[in-house]
Amino acid sequence: MSSRFDQSEIHTTLRESVRTWAHQNLEPGASMRDETEFFDVSLFRRLTTELGITGSTLPESLGGAGLDEAAPVILIETLAEVDPAFSMSYLAQELLFTHQLWRTWELSGQKMPASHDEVLRSHPIAGMGMTEPDAGTDVLGMKTTAERQDDGTFIINGTKQWITNAPVGDAFLVYARTGEGRRDISLFLIKSTDSGFMRGTPEKKMGMRSSPTGSLTFTQCRVPADRLVGNLHEGLRPMLRNLAIERLGLAAESCGLAKTCLDIMIAYMRERHAFGKPISDFGQIQRIVSECYAKYRASRCFLYETLEDLIDGKPRASIDADAVKLCCSEMGEFVSRSAIQVLGANGYSRAYPVERLHRDAVLLSIGGGTNEALQKNLSRLI
Ligand SMILES: Cc1cc2nc3c(=O)[nH]c(=O)nc-3n(C[C@H](O)[C@H](O)[C@H](O)COP(=O)(O)OP(=O)(O)OC[C@H]3O[C@@H](n4cnc5c(N)ncnc54)[C@H](O)[C@@H]3O)c2cc1C
Repeated sequence: MSSRFDQSEIHTTLRESVRTWAHQNLEPGASMRDETEFFDVSLFRRLTTELGITGSTLPESLGGAGLDEAAPVILIETLAEVDPAFSMSYLAQELLFTHQLWRTWELSGQKMPASHDEVLRSHPIAGMGMTEPDAGTDVLGMKTTAERQDDGTFIINGTKQWITNAPVGDAFLVYARTGEGRRDISLFLIKSTDSGFMRGTPEKKMGMRSSPTGSLTFTQCRVPADRLVGNLHEGLRPMLRNLAIERLGLAAESCGLAKTCLDIMIAYMRERHAFGKPISDFGQIQRIVSECYAKYRASRCFLYETLEDLIDGKPRASIDADAVKLCCSEMGEFVSRSAIQVLGANGYSRAYPVERLHRDAVLLSIGGGTNEALQKNLSRLI
């Protein structure tokens, strides 16, 4: 589609080069990876070695590309056009780990320790653990604890659940309770090699099947003092700040997959004949496709407008990020389901990717805050 959503030539070039790479390298195996629930580590590492798009928002002094927050959102959208699950794993690494680690230090007003700098420069496969088996939407109900010892180290106990990239990750940002108060939550950097730390096996899922999701378990896991990210008991602020960009990233996934569904259904309605004419001659098909197009275009405009507001530091952006995710996830489910309808049996089968994209689309109404949670936030804040 048009490049009017890109704020600069850099963004357009980024979008185009990643789109070409994705069509050449991601598309051919996307269905197979979904069928076999296979996360292709070597393909994923090529995002760093070949495309250089990991660490997109990190300053150059930390080995990053020094781009604004529009860059990862554009990249997530573009990867999701072909393979939303792969895009989801990239989102977890890029926005939930790399961007969040760096931004938390920025917000804290303190210097990032050399050990964190080192982790960032290694471009690990990474993720972020907030959700627990008994605390999802009710995030402040988390039970994982990190107790500071006399020597400054922390001992972490608890379990995180449904964490993207957990089964394969090298490093994670994890929230844990550090005090008695409900809001006494801190953020920690965890390495897969830490003793007392265990990564779970991949969960069986409806969609996003080639993005591995699992648990992170801490049993008397002792980490050095310098693993605390930012200030003690002040993990909520970066958590909330990062939710806005996470939600825009997830909304971009909905837009990416919706674009492909639209492209497929538009081509199909012109090629497929019934009763001696193309199905595009039927009013009901015209209605489905035109509604999909209008909803897609409107949602995408809202996404990029809010992204611009976020980059400009407008306070409204964090409220609108919830509205964008609500709007785009509903649009993504509607458009992908409609594509199945327009393609009939072909849409329901695995001959076309629309059924996979629809299964992937459903996650986007749950992950990063359910639509019900967003509705509650919005009715309170708007
Ligand atoms: C594939 C996948 C990847 C994920 N990746 C990550 C990750 O990388 N990191 C991470 O931390 N988490 C991750 N999650 C977890 C995700 O963020 C949670 O699933 C989500 O926040 C919802 O929590 P829950 O599943 O515990 O549902 P619950 O909170 O138990 O909600 C169940 C239902 O109740 C509704 N509900 C709950 N509270 C209210 C309320 N107050 N008012 C109205 N309705 C309510 C919900 O909307 C939902 O419909 C992932 C989940 C999936 C499926």
